[in-house]
Amino acid sequence: MAVLERQTEGLYCPAADVWIDPTRPVKRALITHAHADHARAGSGEYWAVNQSEGVLRQRLGQEIKLHAVSYGETLIIGEAKISFHSAGHVLGSAQIRIEVEGEVWLVTGDYKRCHDPSCTPFENVKCDVMITESTFGLPIYRWKTGHEIAKEIHQWWSEEKDHPSLLFCYAFGKAQRVLAELKALGIDDEILLHGAVETVTRHYRDAGICMAKTCPVSSIERKDPLKGRLIIAPPSAYRSSWMKRFKEPQTAFASGWMTVRGARRRRGYEKGFVLSDHADWPGLIQTIKESGAKLVYVTHGQDDVIARYLREVEGIAADSLNTLK
Ligand SMILES: [Zn+2]
Ligand SMILES: [Zn+2]
Repeated sequence: MAVLERQTEGLYCPAADVWIDPTRPVKRALITHAHADHARAGSGEYWAVNQSEGVLRQRLGQEIKLHAVSYGETLIIGEAKISFHSAGHVLGSAQIRIEVEGEVWLVTGDYKRCHDPSCTPFENVKCDVMITESTFGLPIYRWKTGHEIAKEIHQWWSEEKDHPSLLFCYAFGKAQRVLAELKALGIDDEILLHGAVETVTRHYRDAGICMAKTCPVSSIERKDPLKGRLIIAPPSAYRSSWMKRFKEPQTAFASGWMTVRGARRRRGYEKGFVLSDHADWPGLIQTIKESGAKLVYVTHGQDDVIARYLREVEGIAADSLNTLK
């Protein structure tokens, strides 16, 4: 019996009778992190890292039955030993280690290796079989540090003194990383937040994450032209009626996708900052090699490219997760 198998609901562990990041409601779900493509409503019970509890309840419902676990804590569920280890992706994000009869499988969820002052650093976990994400699994993806990108953002924003600067990025994870990096640069200015960013940022403050000063933009008088202010908003607010409140703002988008030529222009942003909460190509390859895995399944992105590279260049057995039975 394999430690994990693929079912219509998602990855299933028969020894523990649990699913990992299921796409449909199940009896018992282990959740790597609270992003919408990993955490879905309707399951009977959830297991997730305690730091993700606030965002999970906000998104899935306050009443969900949630077992909050600490990083590294060993749970015995059925015949399996299960533990959650930091993925360095967003607040409370985890890789899930599952051991059955001495065989260790690791499901990475989303992860990154770059330093990020807004969440716990990535932990290297040894395993026999690894299921890794590959969102940015092409050699063109190589990240600068968050510190360098925060300096670029600060320069872009501080040079515009007559108009507001609107920075668009994901409301959960990216926005708080920017706020934490700006704080680390010693930025004292108060940064304004769209409501969707504001609610998630509150959970980061509750978790004790050190970030720049913030204030909801909705609490500022509408006639204030917000000259020289930085406002952080989710991509869904771009070109929405929410934007009418800002007079001739300059706009930018922070995302790993800004690497690709034309991606910024197609979306209509004036400027792009390359900042990702996923591992870049060197980070993916390094992580796979350090895990010691003898067999690797690749999912979420460039699975075929990475799998072929691992087989042909690194000599590691690898395939797309779609081939797992
Ligand atoms: Zn994610
Ligand atoms: Zn994801």
